[in-house]
Amino acid sequence: MADPLVRFERVRKTYGTGAAAVQSLDLDIARGELMTLLGPSGSGKTTTLMMLAGFELPSEGRILLEGRDIAQTAPHRRGIGVVFQSYALFPHMTVAENVAFPLSVRGVGRSERDSRVAKALDMVRLGGFGDRRPAQLSGGQQQRVALARAMVFEPPIVLLDEPLGALDKALREEMQLEIRHIHQRLGVTMMYVTHDQAEALTLSDRIAVFEGGRIRQCADPKALYDRPADAFVAGFVGENNLLPGTIEARDGEECSIRLRCGPLVQASAVDCGGRGEACVVAIRPERIAVAGVTASDLGEGALPATVLEAIFLGDHVRLRLGVGDGGEILAKRPAGVGSLPEPGGPAAIAWPEGAAFAFRDTTPRV
Ligand code: ADP
Ligand code: MG
Repeated sequence: MADPLVRFERVRKTYGTGAAAVQSLDLDIARGELMTLLGPSGSGKTTTLMMLAGFELPSEGRILLEGRDIAQTAPHRRGIGVVFQSYALFPHMTVAENVAFPLSVRGVGRSERDSRVAKALDMVRLGGFGDRRPAQLSGGQQQRVALARAMVFEPPIVLLDEPLGALDKALREEMQLEIRHIHQRLGVTMMYVTHDQAEALTLSDRIAVFEGGRIRQCADPKALYDRPADAFVAGFVGENNLLPGTIEARDGEECSIRLRCGPLVQASAVDCGGRGEACVVAIRPERIAVAGVTASDLGEGALPATVLEAIFLGDHVRLRLGVGDGGEILAKRPAGVGSLPEPGGPAAIAWPEGAAFAFRDTTPRV
C-alpha cells in the first residue's frame, strides 16, 4: 500500500518465555480506513493494538506511523485515541469534564475546550448530557462518552478494543451503526478489535482475521465471506459446513472429493493438495437448496439426505440434514417460501456450481 497511515513490519511479540502472542505481523492501514482485527480469544488482537498505542513494545520488527518508526515515542505523544470495553470514565467528574480531560492534559484553553467538548458530545448524540455523572447514564451512553473522549482531541487514529462487549445485543447493534456513521462522517482512521464476526462484517472497510498470533487473511467483508483463504477463515467468518474428505481427482481448480461420510462431491480448490490428500469442503448453508423428494426423483448432482431437524427462526428456517453415513449438513432458507420437508423424511440437497470450496484441513475448530 502506498503511504499507509500505520504500517506493522514483521512485528513479533513474546511475553516472557511463552509462545509468541504475535508471530510475524505485516499490516498496512490506510488513512481514513476502518480496519478490524477479528479473531478468537487469545489470538493476539489486543497485543497488536497495545503495541500501536505504545503500552507494549514489540519484541521484533517496527511500527511506523505516518512513515516514522514510533518505537521511541511515548504513548501520549503518539496522538492516538483509545476506547476499551470497560469505559474507564472518571466517576467523580461530569460527562463534560470527562470528555474535556484529554484537552486539559494537552493545555487547550477554556473556550476552545468548551466548544470542542460540545461538538464531541453532539457527535455521539449526548448534547444535553454534559452535566450528568457517568453513573446517571446507561451502559450505551457511557460507552458513547468514552468514544467522545477518545476523539475530542481529533487524533488521526482511534483504537477500539471490544468497546461494545458489555452491552446487550440490541444496543450493540445500534452502537455498531453509530460507530460506522461517525467513522464515515469524520473520516478518522479506526482500528477496531472484536471476536464477533457479525460485528466485524457490519463495521469494517477491511478485516484482518487473526488466529494463533498470525493474520490468516486480510480483505474487505465481502471478499472474506465469498472467498475465504483457508478453512479457518471459512469457519470463523459467517456460518459454513466444513466437511472432511479426501481428494480423489484434481484437474486445475476442479476437485472430486470423497467425503468421509460417503458421497462424492465437486469443489473448487482454494488451498489444498492433490489426489489422495485430506481436505475439507466448505459450503455456505444459504447456498444449499433442499427439496422434500424421494431419492428416486433426485435431480442430477443432488444428494439424498434425511431431514433431522427443522428450526423455525422467524425470518429463516435452519435445516439439519443427515447425509451419507453419519454426515451432517446445515442448510438455511427463508421462511415462508415453499413447503418445508418433514423432519424424518427424505430430501434432496444440491448447491450451485462454484459454491463448494476445498481447503487443506488445518482447522483448529472453534
Ligand atoms: P486477544 O486480544 O486476541 O484475546 P491477546 O493479545 O490479549 O489476545 O493475547 C494473545 C496471547 O498473549 C494470549 O496467549 C495471552 O494469554 C498472551 N498474553 C497477553 N497479554 C499478556 C501478558 N501481559 N503477559 C503474558 N501473556 C500475555
Ligand atoms: Mg483482547
